[in-house]
Amino acid sequence: LTFTSCGLPPKLLLNLETAGYDFPTPIQMQAIPVALTGKSMLASAETGSGKTASYLVPIVTRCASYRFEHPSEEKTPLAMVLAPTRELCVQVEEQAKILGMGMPFKTALVVGGDPMPGQLYRIQQGIELIIGTPGRLLDLLTKHSVKLDDVLMFVVDEVDCMLQRGFRDQVMQIFQALPQPQVLLFSATVSKEVEKVGGILAKEMALISI
Ligand code: AMP
Repeated sequence: LTFTSCGLPPKLLLNLETAGYDFPTPIQMQAIPVALTGKSMLASAETGSGKTASYLVPIVTRCASYRFEHPSEEKTPLAMVLAPTRELCVQVEEQAKILGMGMPFKTALVVGGDPMPGQLYRIQQGIELIIGTPGRLLDLLTKHSVKLDDVLMFVVDEVDCMLQRGFRDQVMQIFQALPQPQVLLFSATVSKEVEKVGGILAKEMALISI
């Protein structure tokens, strides 16, 4: 499998090439084709495996095709990524910007420590992807500051770490506000608790491990 054989938009292929992603990593080979079909999945993958691009490539692809098919719709988020730390969220946004360059693909970062007004302004300008830590995102949701009716894809990165940090209930609460999106879960370790969260978030999940 190559990136070219996955049916990705030409602009995304160019961005992958520019980023120096010549070949998909093993997790990308398994996860990208499944995620592109719209199926939910639970993937066991560690940092350094290329897990971030294994959900960002399908996100950029599905967002681009949605915007193409619904050109006049208000640009509220189509995808949401939750990650346990501010640092991880920043890294996810950096990669998202590289992969979505020159495409209808804008991002907003919603993490504690940054002033809320700037984050809100960005969201109001129209975005495809919202990335954040559970606490700050929930803050934003309870203030009704972001419309989530169009979220097609919901990613929870480092699920094991999320649970360790006590974010379980906040993640569930955020999920309740979404209109039954595709769910993509990534975790270094897949414990019984991680599987249980998967079972609650999606009826059926493809299991992927490398
Ligand atoms: P991650 O596991 O998502 O944190 O990615 C680890 C590092 O690998 C990041 O610096 C990515 O930019 C890089 N990377 C991800 N996918 C590829 C790829 N297919 N080819 C080369 N580098 C990659």
